[in-house]
Amino acid sequence: MLDTRPLLETTDFPRIFRGQLSILQVNLGYLCNLSCVHCHVNAGPKRKELMTRETIDQVLAFIDKQGIKVLDLTGGAPEMNPDFRYLVVEARKRGVEVIDRCNLTILNEPGYEDLAQFLTDQRVIITASLPCYSEQNVEKQRGKGVFAESIAALQKLNALGYGMEGSGLQLNLVYNPGGPFLPPDQETLRADYQRELKQAYDVEFNDLLTITNMPISRFGSMLLSKGQFEGYMRLLKDSFSKENLAGLMCKSLISVDWQGEVYDCDFNQMLKMPLITSDRPITYLSDLLDESLEGGEIVIGEHCYGCTAGRGSSCAGALA
Ligand code: SF4
Ligand code: SF4
Repeated sequence: MLDTRPLLETTDFPRIFRGQLSILQVNLGYLCNLSCVHCHVNAGPKRKELMTRETIDQVLAFIDKQGIKVLDLTGGAPEMNPDFRYLVVEARKRGVEVIDRCNLTILNEPGYEDLAQFLTDQRVIITASLPCYSEQNVEKQRGKGVFAESIAALQKLNALGYGMEGSGLQLNLVYNPGGPFLPPDQETLRADYQRELKQAYDVEFNDLLTITNMPISRFGSMLLSKGQFEGYMRLLKDSFSKENLAGLMCKSLISVDWQGEVYDCDFNQMLKMPLITSDRPITYLSDLLDESLEGGEIVIGEHCYGCTAGRGSSCAGALA
């Protein structure tokens, strides 16, 4: 795979500093039942990296010490970590809001038949990728059969109350572009998704989040191999909007990888650009239990333009 990192390290992106920390994003490992083209962590069924119970206990200790309000679980397919349920139950006992970044198809995999019920019982927020409401576009990015499986999973979640008015069970969908272009307007696209999914499949959901593709990992490699990297970077930089700086997710979030190493965001994690608090080359979550991170400088690169382009982008969707 081609590496875009050397092309991203030097940047003229404005310096940015952390605000109050409220969200801990935890990557539970790179094991996944899918291998999507746009995947920025190169996850797949053959990956062996998984967060251990010991590191998960450090995550819980950090939540306790730092008063974390939201735990955002990613992967791979986070549910494939054998200690996923342990972490969810412990976090919910502490009153922490838990987000499961779910690829939907995992809900139909053998051995995971009771997963949807578990998420319902724990009132976990499900944020699920569905890059389009059309079968053809989804399968181009995610593989054959993925669309039908995703729809079946959404119908299962709806039947449990997810996405239904008044249930309090939040179901969000995530759109990301199928190529080197920016996402369309989030509100307009949400209305399109709502109309199309309701009409064709009787599926309902709460919100749609649009996320810009980052020029890193598998997507970055694809751009390089097709000679589209420079053009895409130009698009991101030409679309810079300084209004998006205030809402950047790295101002209120840190990201932990499967080994307990800490980064300013998931993208820096993939680029192996660790959070800097001192002279340490790598910072571990266990080093930060008593440390205040507020005001610290965030490590930036050219890929940061992916967060400020157009309406902006974050794990919670558009910024503007
Ligand atoms: S994008 Fe998500 S579902 Fe697809 S391979 Fe990556 S982690 Fe798995
Ligand atoms: S990639 Fe985005 S979230 Fe990550 S450090 Fe840069 S601006 Fe912040």
